[in-house]
Amino acid sequence: MIEELRPADHRPGRFFVLGGGHVTGPSRRTDYRSEEAAEYRRLYKSARWKATRARHLADEPLCRFCLARGIINDGSLTNTGARQQDPRRRFLVCDHVEPHKGDVEKFFAGPFQTLCPDDHDIVKQQLEVRGYIVGCDAAGRPLSPDHPWNRRREALSKVPD
Ligand SMILES: [Zn+2]
Repeated sequence: MIEELRPADHRPGRFFVLGGGHVTGPSRRTDYRSEEAAEYRRLYKSARWKATRARHLADEPLCRFCLARGIINDGSLTNTGARQQDPRRRFLVCDHVEPHKGDVEKFFAGPFQTLCPDDHDIVKQQLEVRGYIVGCDAAGRPLSPDHPWNRRREALSKVPD
């Protein structure tokens, strides 16, 4: 299965999706109760999800977080811009920006964002735990619009002069 989906080459614009657009792993979802996990698997396996994911990835074929760092990542790179050495991680994720928590309507409606596996598994988890993305863009600004530094700037910009 993984072998089949392994990219033959790394031309820009090509992307590869494993596990129903959802990163699967041995212990990543153990926090979900098993009925919930079964329901989520059912959703991710559905033809409707596969079509939704394909449509989204066609519209947004590059990792959004990498792009904010100035890295053009079509799924063939790590989130630092190096070539992804692990062929099982050469794909892009159609990620739910907001947690759907099993809400079927929200699951299919989005909003979605394209992420590389590094950004989905590591950076997005940090975002969910800390409330902001760790890391800076090329100009040295924190990537996350919700980063305290950006929140402070926003507050200051509202002060009348
Ligand atoms: Zn990325």
